[in-house]
Amino acid sequence: MSDRSEQERHFETVAVRAGQRRTSEGEQSDPIFTTSSFVFDTAEQAAARFSGLEAGNIYSRFTNPTVNAFERRLAALEGGERCVATGSGMAAILAACMSLLKAGDHVLLANGVFGSTTVLFETYLGRFGIRTTRVPLTDLQAWEDAITSETRMFFIETPANPLAEIADIAALAEIAHRHDCLLVADNTVCTAALQRPLELGADIVVVSATKYIDGQGRCVGGAVIGNERHVGEAVYGFLRTAGTCLSPFNAWIFMKGLETLALRMRAHSESATLLARWLREQPGIGKVFYAGLSDHPQHDLARRQQSAFGGLLAFEVDGGRDGAWRFINATRLLSVTANLGDAKTTITHPATTTHGRLTPEARREAGIGDGLVRVAVGLEHVEDIKTDLRCGIDALIGG
Ligand SMILES: *Cc1c(COP(=O)(O)O)cnc(C)c1O
Repeated sequence: MSDRSEQERHFETVAVRAGQRRTSEGEQSDPIFTTSSFVFDTAEQAAARFSGLEAGNIYSRFTNPTVNAFERRLAALEGGERCVATGSGMAAILAACMSLLKAGDHVLLANGVFGSTTVLFETYLGRFGIRTTRVPLTDLQAWEDAITSETRMFFIETPANPLAEIADIAALAEIAHRHDCLLVADNTVCTAALQRPLELGADIVVVSATKYIDGQGRCVGGAVIGNERHVGEAVYGFLRTAGTCLSPFNAWIFMKGLETLALRMRAHSESATLLARWLREQPGIGKVFYAGLSDHPQHDLARRQQSAFGGLLAFEVDGGRDGAWRFINATRLLSVTANLGDAKTTITHPATTTHGRLTPEARREAGIGDGLVRVAVGLEHVEDIKTDLRCGIDALIGG
C-alpha cells in the first residue's frame, strides 16, 4: 500500500483505516496500551533511546502507541503532517501558544472565541508579556489595521460559538502570511469532516476532541495539527516537557469517534438546518444564528468553505435573561449542560455559563445578549427535539 494510494482515499475511509499499526497479535480493533513506561532489551538500548539515536517509546508522557495512532489518524483527516494530542482542548491551545510565542509577542484574537480561550490569552498569557488585541472575526480590514511590528499570531474560531459567525480562512491566511504571522484556527465546531483549515492556508489547527470527535460526551481531550516544524518539533517539544498529554484510554475513545465522525456531522447538520428554519417562524423567538440560513451574513462564505453547516445554533428569545432561563427550564428532553458535540442535544444560556467569565463589555463586543439561548443539536429524532423546544416557546408566550 503506497502513500500515494492512501492519499487518494476518501475522508470516510481514512477515518476508519488511517493510523492503526497492527501488533503481532493480529487484532482487528485497535488495542489500548495502558502503560506508563516501556522496557528496553539492554542498558545500551535504553541509552540509545534516551539520547535520540534510536526511535521508539520511552515513557507515555513522550509517546504512547494508542495516542500516536489517534494522532496519525487525525493528522490524515485534517491534512496536516503532524498531530500532537493533548489532555484537553484548552491544553492544545496552551501548547500551541507556549511553543510558538514568547514574551513581547502580540496576538490578534477573534472576538467571540470560546470563553476560556479569551481568558487564557488576556489573563494568563498576558502575565508573561504576550499582548492580545481582540478583533471582529469577519472584518478583514480590522485585522490588517490591528497588526503591529510585534504581531506573531492570528487566532480564530470558525464558525464562532455561539453566534455562528464565519471567518474567511483563506483571506485571513493571506493577511497573516504577508505580515509573517501564523494563522491558528480552532476547528472544534466543524471538525475536519466539514472544514479543513490547513488546506485553506491556516498554519495550525487546534481542536477540542471532547466535542464532536468523541461525539458521545465521555472524555476530555484535544489536539494540535500542522506541519513538522511547528507541531512535530515546537508543539511536541513543549508537550513532552510540560506534560499536557492525553491518556491512552481517551485517545482510544477519540479514535473510535473518528470512525463515525463524517456520518454524525452530516446528521447533526441536517437536523440543525431543519430546526433553525423552523425556529425562525415561531412566536417569542427573535434572531436565529445559523450559517445554513440563506440570510446569514456569511452564508455564501460558509457554503464555499464548509461542506455542511454543523450542529450548533443559537437564538434570541423575548424577555432577556429571565426569558432565556424560563425557556430552558421548560424543556424536558434536552440536557441543560454547556457541552456540545454530544449525541444528546444540549441547551445552554451562554451569558451566564460558557461566556459568564467575560466582562459585560467583552460579552457585548462578542454579541452575546442576555436573551441568547444556544442549542447543540444531537442525534435524537428531529421531531422530538422540536416538540421539546415547543415547551420552551409555550413557556415564553405563556401558553
Ligand atoms: C470546548 C471548546 C474548547 C476547549 O476544549 P476543552 O476540551 O473543554 O478544553 C475550545 N474551543 C472550542 C470552540 C470549544 O468548544
